[in-house]
Amino acid sequence: MGTSTGTSPRAVARHTAAAEELAAAGRWEEAYQHLRSAMQILGGRAAPTDELDRLRREHAEAREHARRDSLTSSYNRRYLDERLLALLDPPFRAGALGVSVAIVDADHFKQVNDTYGHLFGDRVLQRLVTLLDADLPDGAFCARYGGEEFAIVLPDRDLETAVRVCEAARDRVDRHPWAELDPGLRVTVSAGVAHTAGPSHPQVERVVGAADVLLYAAKDAGRNAVAYRDPHNEEVRLAGPAARRRGVPQPTDVPRHVRPGRAG
Ligand code: GH3
Ligand code: MG
Ligand code: MG
Repeated sequence: MGTSTGTSPRAVARHTAAAEELAAAGRWEEAYQHLRSAMQILGGRAAPTDELDRLRREHAEAREHARRDSLTSSYNRRYLDERLLALLDPPFRAGALGVSVAIVDADHFKQVNDTYGHLFGDRVLQRLVTLLDADLPDGAFCARYGGEEFAIVLPDRDLETAVRVCEAARDRVDRHPWAELDPGLRVTVSAGVAHTAGPSHPQVERVVGAADVLLYAAKDAGRNAVAYRDPHNEEVRLAGPAARRRGVPQPTDVPRHVRPGRAG
């Protein structure tokens, strides 16, 4: 849409009205253009700066809204994908310590829904996000990957730190007084933590795929556990008290393929 609608006061009104309409449709750049045109016509005498401020505020609110998951208010998949691309795809911008990515999945969550109903399950997911989000280090964030799966991303953090952070999150979930919601309720999570140290193979699919493979190793090793690869020998290990378990699966690292039935 062009912005040349004349130089009269009526033109100012037309630009302002067009800006309102475009802003309402989320077409912020074009709305700004119209407001700028209106300001130019007014020569700064009575610039609609309040309007501009309001548009900026609404724009910021709309951006924040678009980044959030409507059920849990955690960051959503769109935000996660954007951030991972920005961090990992060339040029590698992840900082000296690289990036750690964990995929966290609620254990036996179908049973929670089957036992207590879907709405109750929703409340459990909300509380779960609060627990996963608590105590993350600066710059790290949690996002809903889809369904009952979440990602914890730790930019510029080494694997050791990431494993410690994720094990603490698993422990928080495990120790949470879930009986507050229902006397019989217990909720645990499993996680796989992957790390990439540099720009040699930083692609998003590779890192998320590695975390996903490790998540399933944690599930197969009995759930309620955080799995990672020992950087010295590539062996899959479990963090914390679960390290004592025997028979931890040793899967090969295969690139992630989106599994059917996964929410987007
Ligand atoms: P596992 O330990 O192997 O992960 O078992 P699981 O039961 O958690 O895994 P499965 O993939 O069989 O089931 C996931 C369940 O999560 C089924 C699905 O209905 C539930 N779920 C996914 N998204 C939501 C949601 O937004 N709200 C609720 N209440 N349930 C959800
Ligand atoms: Mg699950
Ligand atoms: Mg799942």
